[in-house]
Amino acid sequence: MFDFIDMDFDPAATLPSAGPYLPDAADCMRCGLCINTCPTFRLFQTPEETPRSRIRTLSKILVENQPITDAERLHLDNCLQCRACETVCPSRMAYGELFDQAQAHLAAAPQGLAKLAFCLIENKRWRRRLLPLLTLYLKSGVQKPLRHIGLLKKLHLEDANALLTRPALKPLAAHYPATGAAQGQVALFTGCIAEHFDNATLQAAIQLLNAIGYAVIVPPGQGCCGAVHQHNGQSATGLIENNINVFNALDVEAVLHTATGCGAMLSEYRHEDAEAADLFKQRLQDISGFLLAHWPDDLHLQASPEKVAVHEPCSQRNALKNQQNVYALLAKIPRLEVTPLPDNHLCCGAGGSYMLSHPDNAGQLRAMKQQAINGSGVERVVSSNFGCAVFMNAGGGEVVHPLQLMAGQLAVLPETVLRQTNIF
Ligand code: SF4
Ligand code: SF4
Repeated sequence: MFDFIDMDFDPAATLPSAGPYLPDAADCMRCGLCINTCPTFRLFQTPEETPRSRIRTLSKILVENQPITDAERLHLDNCLQCRACETVCPSRMAYGELFDQAQAHLAAAPQGLAKLAFCLIENKRWRRRLLPLLTLYLKSGVQKPLRHIGLLKKLHLEDANALLTRPALKPLAAHYPATGAAQGQVALFTGCIAEHFDNATLQAAIQLLNAIGYAVIVPPGQGCCGAVHQHNGQSATGLIENNINVFNALDVEAVLHTATGCGAMLSEYRHEDAEAADLFKQRLQDISGFLLAHWPDDLHLQASPEKVAVHEPCSQRNALKNQQNVYALLAKIPRLEVTPLPDNHLCCGAGGSYMLSHPDNAGQLRAMKQQAINGSGVERVVSSNFGCAVFMNAGGGEVVHPLQLMAGQLAVLPETVLRQTNIF
């Protein structure tokens, strides 16, 4: 057992008298309010697995410039970077940012499979060469015998293998004209692997935008948002610079993202050319908010008597804080019953690359999420983050992006028919 409030805390004794001031790491009051929000505390129930303890380690690294122990490193690495602790902290600790800064101090250059993963994320040409081979592998049926003889486990590929789905090989077109009365033009952020592994969501986004009168540009020069790099201590500067240059060069009303994980990263872009970064962020919007703001009064969706639960990804709840848009958007589908997934404040375990680096912790959190899904009595779950959906689906869930649900009901019916069928 340990005290939630640290009565012995003496800030004067803790803060270094000299050295660089790094925002917030030393401002923790040790009040303990963050403890119960933390998924790793839920898993381990120990003081070391709390945000408060990790903030202490971050302060050691960033402010006091002290070496940390192996145990401190282990507990720091167990963090999912869900940022739930930020939302309740009275000191407004910039936990996510401090964690990234510490990772940049600690992380070594990636090796082996991690190096290959970073290359694939960064390099479109590599992806185009390797994905047909992956398709062949998935079609061939060798997964089962490889798992059976234990080879995937030996090569540390079992967890990655479980997440694989057949990739879309055909790239998206660069331009999709509006189908409804023309209103304007937007750009779609597709990032890196989503074009291949979450193609259905991107297609749905394009269909919906076209239907509300917006032409969609998908600039082929865009690339990964940089989140995986930044959260793992690698430089994301080149990726950030590329996206800023590519999107700022376009004559569009908005730059829209569909995945909240990427959206959170994009909305916090920093660059030495602050003006360019600001221009990028001014035009950046979550697609749900954009669709809501521009939805024409005469565009009606077909009814669906389904019951769905909304999973609110951590990047949406704790960084973008716009989860209400999803509920408002789904309310446009007549008869659809929409409910929040119980325990939405708790991370599903995906955590970007966490599902691969910490499969046991991630699996336990996913099992809790699955229990919440089973208890909710819904037919399907919607999630606006691709990583969460992939991870929950690998555990037996049926999770889709809300845009896919919306686009599926898009067959436009004339208003007279709608009145006759009493849909409204
Ligand atoms: S809520 Fe904030 S101030 Fe309180 S212990 Fe957690 S990190 Fe520190
Ligand atoms: S980011 Fe999430 S996992 Fe990490 S300390 Fe905060 S609440 Fe815990």
